[in-house]
Amino acid sequence: MGECCSLEGEIKPSNTKRECPICGDKSLSVPLKTILHHINRAWDFKFKDQRFYYCRNAKCDVVYFSTADFIIVKSDIRTAIGIKEQSDDALICFCFGVSKIDAATDKNAKDFVIRQTKTSMCSCQTANPSGRCCLKDFPK
Ligand SMILES: [Zn+2]
Repeated sequence: MGECCSLEGEIKPSNTKRECPICGDKSLSVPLKTILHHINRAWDFKFKDQRFYYCRNAKCDVVYFSTADFIIVKSDIRTAIGIKEQSDDALICFCFGVSKIDAATDKNAKDFVIRQTKTSMCSCQTANPSGRCCLKDFPK
């Protein structure tokens, strides 16, 4: 799962997990590249030597945290994360702009995304703040 758009030559996030220092959820690692595509003032980011993880707990304010427990919260990034926001307009799929309400009401949206992932037309590693495929965030 989630390997739909791994890029050749990129350092793949390892599948190691680490507990979010705030909510305790087991979180998957995320590439530095992903963080730089979402954090405010990426040019000021000084923690490039640490491994970061993405907390996907909807109720947790933490987006990224590092092995040294450096924390990046929602207000530190420039992307509204659908699963962490109340707004129906917040995005679930960042590659193709599918909002929460689209995902909930239009079956074609998910079918479209599934087709794109199969032909590697998506760009989850940079577009999705999790660095991974969005399909797991769609309603079942
Ligand atoms: Zn958390």
